[in-house]
Amino acid sequence: MSIREANAKKAARRRFEARDLLERLKSGPCQDCGSEKLLTCQKDLLRPDGSMAQLSRRLLMSQSRIIREASACLLVCANCSRLRIWKAQRAKRAGQT
Ligand SMILES: [Zn+2]
Repeated sequence: MSIREANAKKAARRRFEARDLLERLKSGPCQDCGSEKLLTCQKDLLRPDGSMAQLSRRLLMSQSRIIREASACLLVCANCSRLRIWKAQRAKRAGQT
């Protein structure tokens, strides 16, 4: 196996493990509406300022960093997430004018 192939394999493994970790971090009730019925639905990790952490796009970070970033986030369901983002954007716009 070439070095390039070995690296690609290692990266795929890390992404797989990070996705698994994210899945575990996202289990639990929504912190806004408390809904647990939507466990199978999409859940978002939202930063306190209302932006999405989008950890699933940065899967090659170390696991400790993923845990650190996730612990600074709110766990909310897709509905509450949209609502929070909308409110944050509205507040931002109101502050600009
Ligand atoms: Zn919710």
